[in-house]
Amino acid sequence: MKYVSTRGKASELAFDDVVLAGLARDGGLFVPRTWPTLSENALRAMADDDYATLAARVMAPFAAPAMSEAALHEITADAYRTFDHPDIAPLKPIGDNIFLLELFHGPTLAFKDYALQVLGRLFERILAERNQRITILGATSGDTGSAAIEACRDRDRIEIFILHPKGRVSDVQRRQMTTVQTANVHNVAVEGTFDDCQGLVKALFGDNTFRDRVGLAAINSINWARIVAQVVYYVRAALALGAPDREVTFAVPTGNFGNVFSGYVAHNIGVPIRRLVIGSNRNDILTRFFISGAMEVGTVFPTLSPSMDIQVSSNFERLLFDLYDRDGAAVRSRMDAFRDTGSFEVEADRLDRARDLFTATRFDDDETKDTIRRVYETCGEVLDPHSAIGVAAAHRCRGNESVPMVALATAHPAKFPDAVEAAIGVRPVLPPALRDLMDREERYTVLPADVDSLRDHMSRTLTARETIV
Ligand SMILES: *Cc1c(COP(=O)(O)O)cnc(C)c1O
Repeated sequence: MKYVSTRGKASELAFDDVVLAGLARDGGLFVPRTWPTLSENALRAMADDDYATLAARVMAPFAAPAMSEAALHEITADAYRTFDHPDIAPLKPIGDNIFLLELFHGPTLAFKDYALQVLGRLFERILAERNQRITILGATSGDTGSAAIEACRDRDRIEIFILHPKGRVSDVQRRQMTTVQTANVHNVAVEGTFDDCQGLVKALFGDNTFRDRVGLAAINSINWARIVAQVVYYVRAALALGAPDREVTFAVPTGNFGNVFSGYVAHNIGVPIRRLVIGSNRNDILTRFFISGAMEVGTVFPTLSPSMDIQVSSNFERLLFDLYDRDGAAVRSRMDAFRDTGSFEVEADRLDRARDLFTATRFDDDETKDTIRRVYETCGEVLDPHSAIGVAAAHRCRGNESVPMVALATAHPAKFPDAVEAAIGVRPVLPPALRDLMDREERYTVLPADVDSLRDHMSRTLTARETIV
């Protein structure tokens, strides 16, 4: 499979190049040149696969010929070995033909592990083949940082620097990053906001000399490998509920449009998905778009579901590319308008096409807490605030009740204990592997929100690690 950029100007690349590149050179995102398809028989043949085998089979057409299914299977078998549930992504009935797809059984208890555990190993394999090293630099407001660190710790050819805004991530989230005591992991607490952290990352990626010297690479959700690894649990849940002979609807709590875009990919490759329901919190740019056809950036409000406190949904550009019949110039002009004016619009006929598959709805913090309480009272399940938005969206946009509805549970409740306790009066406990998290020793460097300080810190650290000269 070759990959093209959503902005139409970058040259086509193979899977392994796309994994390392992250963003395309024209500023666009990579998408496959065509959508591979799975026949009904091919889907049926996957129904009994274990998770790692299914993952390799689903990813194989996207990775060929750069990487074989056997090579992918080595990676997925190793990646999912550390998960704490035998089904990896268990499906639980929560009433009325509605199911919860639990995606918090990885090492950092959020769905991001499902893709990042694969991506870390993909990096390692591709770098070994090329005898290269990279330095990953990322900013986090919470879950991405810990999932990326767990995925890259102890990998020979990777150094990873993660910036978090000092004092602005939860204790659990910070400790999941700062207690990882391995030599290639470098946490930085920035005296500033998440936006300051992102600004620093952008500035260093814009410094070509530095970027080339340290081999800077990104791990954020625009990386295509993350999208494709997430397709697997949509395929798996649909098969468990009767696909290809029966349709399924999914409800997905979304911020960056990454997770739900993987559902769209599953639909495109032939999984019978009736509808994709998007759940937003108060930061509802996507919900407003699906109502009006206008994508308009607003201010970011803090909510109980901080991993969705986002006003720019980067992965939406990939859907836009299809809505404009893969016309890179049309996407480019809209993304330029968005950058310059904070908004763009999509014509009514194209919006209607998007609405054939997508529905979006928003919930405030009170509704989120009500959902946590209601689900706890009716079926004993304890939801985190992000998962609660998925379940609330599933109920509000139920549609045809004979179609199974799957709500994605994207984080373990113990990651957000304060919100859960406020809703149900019970404080969720961390799973055994993380139970001593609050007693582990932390290690991080505090820096001002200043690009020279960060560049110096990284240079000194990498020189000491003898990874640069
Ligand atoms: C990152 C995250 C989300 C949002 O995922 P997107 O891919 O950005 O839509 C939702 N819930 C949790 C718990 C997350 O960590």
